[in-house]
Amino acid sequence: MHMQHNSEPSPSEPHSEFLEEVSRLWPLAKGSLSEVSKPCTQKGCKACAEGRGHPATIYTYRQGGKLKCMHVRPRFVPQMRKAIANCHQLEEILTRLGRETLVRLREEDS
Ligand SMILES: [Zn+2]
Repeated sequence: MHMQHNSEPSPSEPHSEFLEEVSRLWPLAKGSLSEVSKPCTQKGCKACAEGRGHPATIYTYRQGGKLKCMHVRPRFVPQMRKAIANCHQLEEILTRLGRETLVRLREEDS
């Protein structure tokens, strides 16, 4: 790779900065986690009989405008939380870039 530190910024520089910034944002997941209570299939389960059920984590996301969900195994919850937090950061970057893109276009135009 060829760097030009002491010269004028090249038009591709914001793109390289973006790629470097987002390369750290992994894993990624757009959606949310929620804690629910689910019944089980065991006969005579006390928790279910008392209406408490069993705690479970659900990952909810949108696909083609439809709300979908998936069960998350307890050991995967920390990774899914991290993935969702990374997605929020990515969305902030994308929002910021919209503004920066237009500002740069205006500067190039003047
Ligand atoms: Zn049960």
